[in-house]
Amino acid sequence: HPSDRTDSSPIDSSPAEAETEDGSVPAGETPVETARRQLDAALDRADVEPALADRLRRPDHVHRVSFPVHRDDGTRETVVGYRVQHDDSRGPYKGGVRYHPGVGESECLALAMWMTWKCAVVDVPFGGAKGGVVVDPSTLNRAEHERLTYGLAAALSGAVGPQRDVVAPDVGTDASTMRAFADAAGDPAVATGKPLSAGGCRGREAAPGRSVALAARYAWESTGAPLDAATVAVQGFGSVGANAARLLDEWGASVVAVSDVDGAVYDPSGLDLGRAASDVPGRLDHDAGVGTLTNEHLLGLGVDVLVPAAVGGVLTADNAPGVRADVVVEGANGPTTTAADAVFEERGVTVVPDIVANAGGVTASYFEWVQTRRATRWSRERVHAELDDRIERALETVASTAARRDVTWRQAAYLLAVERVAAAHRRRKAAP
Ligand code: GLU
Repeated sequence: HPSDRTDSSPIDSSPAEAETEDGSVPAGETPVETARRQLDAALDRADVEPALADRLRRPDHVHRVSFPVHRDDGTRETVVGYRVQHDDSRGPYKGGVRYHPGVGESECLALAMWMTWKCAVVDVPFGGAKGGVVVDPSTLNRAEHERLTYGLAAALSGAVGPQRDVVAPDVGTDASTMRAFADAAGDPAVATGKPLSAGGCRGREAAPGRSVALAARYAWESTGAPLDAATVAVQGFGSVGANAARLLDEWGASVVAVSDVDGAVYDPSGLDLGRAASDVPGRLDHDAGVGTLTNEHLLGLGVDVLVPAAVGGVLTADNAPGVRADVVVEGANGPTTTAADAVFEERGVTVVPDIVANAGGVTASYFEWVQTRRATRWSRERVHAELDDRIERALETVASTAARRDVTWRQAAYLLAVERVAAAHRRRKAAP
């Protein structure tokens, strides 16, 4: 392992890099500020020596690349991409690649840090990384999207690899993006979340939503009530939100509201999710309920379980006091600002943090990486059994740590993660 650090400077937050659905800057806090504050809160409680704590605050490497993309109309455009590799003490760097106009270095750092803790808390042998390209994917046709991915894979060829850094889908990318990335890199084990026809893993696509649903069920049932007594609102109808809603509905909960970028559909007696899904992925049929609501209104609905599964930074000091759910399950990465988290703690709202709740994605990615390397394929039943087992074990450990140390679920998850990562650093240091 090379111990050089291409860039070890702490990256300061830049408000211009925060993301919202419409590209505007959310009030209050940038993702990297949220990520740093969460880590610092854990370091206050964890037994980590100062030099190591300082190391965990910074990324190991920051790769910034720019490369040309050929448009179908014959023009050529230069795009900027990033890969931030935060920590690989527990295994190869791992994390998604997003295509979004708001992508930036500091946002990638926040997301890379969350990957490090996520892999540690569910105990998959990976570290944390995140990458992205500053581009609006809706302006790319299929061929352009693929050429962009080829360009990115070529530009990052020295940085990624099956034992070094393994990419996955994220906002604005999907299974075909991963197939293109692996093709360009000439190695299927450099990417996970590939289509089944290109060495993908059964159940990978639905896995983040599946872990969100498992987390919602676990957290709700730990209040003493059965799932079929719970009402649920889900913000976001991408892969995470749609699969979480579908499974919770299947398991007996009443999903009363779901939303996409244009707003929410609502039915207090429970939505017909089959009707709500439109032909366009991520989009809803807005006539599917008895009424429509804004995304902001959805967050304040009188439901039992609220699942923010769209973008980061949506729960803030302004709207957290108006959240009426008893349980918040973070489907998105970083949906809750530090101030909102403090409001939830104060009010006794259980928040299942992103690093546990949506960890099904990277857990299934790990299964895919193993299958690709061993040239084998697991059944869907095996994927579900192993996934459910790992996620449920992580939830139990987090909940019992929270109870034992009298902290929130997020603080408990961070404590477990940071202590595991710190232990891996000490083992590495002790190795001959
Ligand atoms: N992008 C997903 C996440 O944020 C999956 C990452 C992966 O599978 O490596 O967890």
